[in-house]
Amino acid sequence: MRCQNDVKRTNLRHKDPFQMNSLIQIYYAQLRQKLSDVDLCAQENVLSGKGGPFAARLALFSVNEEGSRSLLTEFPHATNKVLETGIASNHAEAQSLVPETVGLLKKQLRHIKQERPKDRPIIVLFSSAQPCWACLTKIEILARQLIQEELIKPKNFVLLYGATYTDTEITAGFHDYAYALDFFNVVKDPPSEASLIQYTTSPFAQAPEHVQAAFKVNPAVTAVLTLNHRTLGLGQDRRNDQDLFHTAECTAMHEASRTLKAEGQATPWNLHGSHLYTLNPKIGPLTYSECQWAAVEHITSLSGAAPVPPQATMQYQESCDLSNRSFSALLVKGFNTPNAVTHVLHDACFANLAQKAWAQHPSHILYNGLEAGDSLTIEQKTAFNRLFCPETLPIEP
Ligand SMILES: [Zn+2]
Repeated sequence: MRCQNDVKRTNLRHKDPFQMNSLIQIYYAQLRQKLSDVDLCAQENVLSGKGGPFAARLALFSVNEEGSRSLLTEFPHATNKVLETGIASNHAEAQSLVPETVGLLKKQLRHIKQERPKDRPIIVLFSSAQPCWACLTKIEILARQLIQEELIKPKNFVLLYGATYTDTEITAGFHDYAYALDFFNVVKDPPSEASLIQYTTSPFAQAPEHVQAAFKVNPAVTAVLTLNHRTLGLGQDRRNDQDLFHTAECTAMHEASRTLKAEGQATPWNLHGSHLYTLNPKIGPLTYSECQWAAVEHITSLSGAAPVPPQATMQYQESCDLSNRSFSALLVKGFNTPNAVTHVLHDACFANLAQKAWAQHPSHILYNGLEAGDSLTIEQKTAFNRLFCPETLPIEP
């Protein structure tokens, strides 16, 4: 890890040092440069043949009472690991938030809180491309957790990204808009039948016998993934102080992909045709968006399982402070609103070197995700973007 103390100090003079907009106005050139570095890392990922044209990096800044800003830590660059690990959601942003990094981040934040309680820590996640719903959800889960632990203030977790969904579609050939719009189905009650994933509820006793048996092997298992009548993933809630994302459903999906990879399957991230059963009475945005990428076909919430798992409510809640229903409803209202705590920024000057290299690279393939685009109009996409990336980095005068 590269640590830099006090590499850059600039006085904010008469501006409120803790106002995010003031900070962005002053530091936009440095933020742009760091995002550009992330683009170079993504480009290297392509040129070295390691994987897709995506990279991300987490950084921790601190602002003191006088308005001097310090870059405390830049965590390691993270790249897309779908091909390497076989897990559909191992996108660059998710890789930048792995438990080891979250643990180190929390340690530093606790140190600031104890030693310099008047300083304001600000976290920036640099991403070469507009994050998908799974990654956006993870970012918001982490930000809310840090706020609940009183380690950061709301809106002091910044996401700065380069390539938009449109750029990624046109230049690199990945289709994010269809997933993004499909995500809105998760908040419908009952969910829309037009959604990519069928989400239903059922009494436990009506689940297939092999599914019931899989749950009964271990009472800690609360999610089971089956493919072609085969039990492929048993999910327990694996979350802890550092790992905020391995819910039982995600664990079951990842275990299934690991099994297929170990068996030599060429595309283990693709769980097309699979059925995810969960004791979670209402899935949240993390489960739904992870299922999108893994191409899970059907999710069923089973009710009336005996014995009822302990801590039933909190065990299934994806966000530390909201029910899954409320969390989904909050996210679809967009960012930079009073509700979501992540501050989202886009850099319209982003060079997007990595995706351009990907388009030229002889081995580039659509390794995951939808094969076709969507029927959305430019106007619909523009309206979506207004909701989800309402702010841009200042452009050079
Ligand atoms: Zn993602």
